[in-house]
Amino acid sequence: MTATTMMETLSIKTENKFRTLVTKRAYAKGEVICPIPSENIMDKPNRFTVQIARDRHTHVGKLAALNHSCDPNVILDTETMQMIACKDIQKGEELYFFYPSTEWQMDAPFICLCGASNCIHVVAGARFLPLSTLEHHYLNPHIREEMIDLLNATKQNLTKLTT
Ligand SMILES: [Zn+2]
Repeated sequence: MTATTMMETLSIKTENKFRTLVTKRAYAKGEVICPIPSENIMDKPNRFTVQIARDRHTHVGKLAALNHSCDPNVILDTETMQMIACKDIQKGEELYFFYPSTEWQMDAPFICLCGASNCIHVVAGARFLPLSTLEHHYLNPHIREEMIDLLNATKQNLTKLTT
């Protein structure tokens, strides 16, 4: 059974309780699709939030139907608080973003079956991915800051081992 909830340019499809976010119009790469909701900010992540700063998570409402892909067609820019097409997108396509581009440590990790050749398989947040994987993706500033802190902490630990 398929149910469709209408928004202006996006629709949520529900199939066997699995929700997907589908666009009702085409977008060119770089085009802004919609703002990221920010009325409801919390300090802990859950399945309906997107991380927008190191200690801030916004409840994204209907955008929570946006699924993960390792080869995404949208980005969530947490500086401008906008969802932006990162590829040309056809009308009727499902929208996806790369969850570790906003999430440092996820509340509900899962196994990815996206089928992309660069699939990361375990989606748990950026802190669980090697730099060699992350460097191929768009990353928000709070994720880059967390990475730098983690690298510096690792460097200090290594210094302790060798002195
Ligand atoms: Zn994947």
